[in-house]
Amino acid sequence: MTTLSDDTAVLPGYAGTRGLNVWSADADLRDAVLPRLPGPASEKRLHAFGALVGGRLGDLIETAHKPENLPRLLEREIGGERAAEIVYCPEQIEARRLLARAVYGEPGLSLVERMTLSVLSNYAGEGGITCPLAMTEGLIGLLERRGTPEQRALLPRLRGDDAVWALTGGQFITERQGGSNVSANETEARPLGDGSYALTGVKWFCSNPGEAWVTTAKVAGTPYIGLFVVLRRGADGRLNGHKILRKKEIGGTRGKATVEVEYLGARAELVGKPREGLALLVDEILSVSRLHVAGAALGFASRAWLEAETFAAWRVAYGRRIADMPSVKARLERLRRERRGMIAAFYAGVDAVAASAPEAEALVPMLKTEVSRRASGMVREAQLLVGGHGILDDFSPLNRLADDAVVNEIWEGTHPILAGHAAKALRRPRVLEAFLRRVGDAPLAAELRARVQASRASAEDERALADEGLVCLAYEAVAGV
Ligand SMILES: Cc1cc2nc3c(=O)[nH]c(=O)nc-3n(C[C@H](O)[C@H](O)[C@H](O)COP(=O)(O)OP(=O)(O)OC[C@H]3O[C@@H](n4cnc5c(N)ncnc54)[C@H](O)[C@@H]3O)c2cc1C
Repeated sequence: MTTLSDDTAVLPGYAGTRGLNVWSADADLRDAVLPRLPGPASEKRLHAFGALVGGRLGDLIETAHKPENLPRLLEREIGGERAAEIVYCPEQIEARRLLARAVYGEPGLSLVERMTLSVLSNYAGEGGITCPLAMTEGLIGLLERRGTPEQRALLPRLRGDDAVWALTGGQFITERQGGSNVSANETEARPLGDGSYALTGVKWFCSNPGEAWVTTAKVAGTPYIGLFVVLRRGADGRLNGHKILRKKEIGGTRGKATVEVEYLGARAELVGKPREGLALLVDEILSVSRLHVAGAALGFASRAWLEAETFAAWRVAYGRRIADMPSVKARLERLRRERRGMIAAFYAGVDAVAASAPEAEALVPMLKTEVSRRASGMVREAQLLVGGHGILDDFSPLNRLADDAVVNEIWEGTHPILAGHAAKALRRPRVLEAFLRRVGDAPLAAELRARVQASRASAEDERALADEGLVCLAYEAVAGV
């Protein structure tokens, strides 16, 4: 296996960050997480996982992202017919199993523990594993809370780490006519008369086409978009009424495949009632993956900071370590400050979600938009700080992280959509009051209250224009930056 250290031989004497335990290396993250952990066993688990990310898991991901190892769409025999299937390299499959084992190997991990495992794994980029984790977590939560007993029978496999089912969940929502407006979905669900539905239509961005998917479709004869669970194969092993049309040539998150899928009568199970579909999608699925996206962005920003710090402490220019030069010092300090703010805001969000507190309604979309946007800037800043080596694919993961970071800004909702959701939540008095209690006497709290109150009275288009600024201010209040 080629490792990062083999490739970095171009700068003799520079070990880079390879082999570092990313948990031990991150004092700011530890300071935030330790008081929230249930006990010393938890810390031990995170310590071991930090070593795995800096070592074997990171190596597996590097190898899985070599161009020759990326996922491929191959025609195969599946349940007696020829059909297109995504094939992953052994390193990608092993990386999934390692993450699945860390998250599900010991039942009952708290939300803080699970989200911290996710942040740490994103130190190695999306890696083809953390988007699947987010989607599998959403599906598990949906079935735990709203699944029928038959649907819940899927849970042990979803939490398993066998090669086929490890991090298998997918979310097939977006259609060609647009992803932001899910209520415009045209995929149709027709009742089959036995409680199941048959789906027809095309889903346009389908990441991680594993064994179990959550999907949206217009329920025939109703005005509603329902939420459905679809298994890729039936109990007899045959494909369940669908075809993979094409694998997309994406610019980031390339370790997992993103495809287009056509439903040709796929058998689907409705979750909840037809009229609840959109609410279930947001409350049970997107709220989970949006928090994961924020955690992923924090992981990318953290790796960016670590790469910049490590390089600057080693590189000498004009007879001086660059880390000692005033402008580099100031830029590193900005990275540190921005990241400390992200950590504070992210764990405030995790606490609010864990407590089902009202302010979570604002915090989740706010973190998704604000942290993902800032992380892209931080990865770019780290590339610039490292200089020419900052954009070399075989020197550090920064290039890959930069590509992943842009995708992170788009999927699970774009900035204006998420800022709109967060601002709308803040305009609800019970959410605003709970949010202000959480930020305490932060210097921006009074200004935030005044801005939210003013926005309640403004016209719709005016509000839409102001929402991103409002949400940025609220983020700064909770991040303390
Ligand atoms: C790599 C990758 C993987 C993905 N994987 C999946 C997946 O597994 N499952 C899935 O369902 N989707 C997936 N997506 C799709 C993703 O969620 C959508 O791209 C995203 O939601 C935006 O939808 P869209 O691309 O159709 O853009 P549109 O919704 O058409 O938006 C286009 C532009 O218009 C803006 N816009 C739209 N509405 C408004 C508004 N009301 N106010 C202001 N601006 C607005 C948007 O911000 C954006 O700038 C993936 C995307 C990528 C890039």
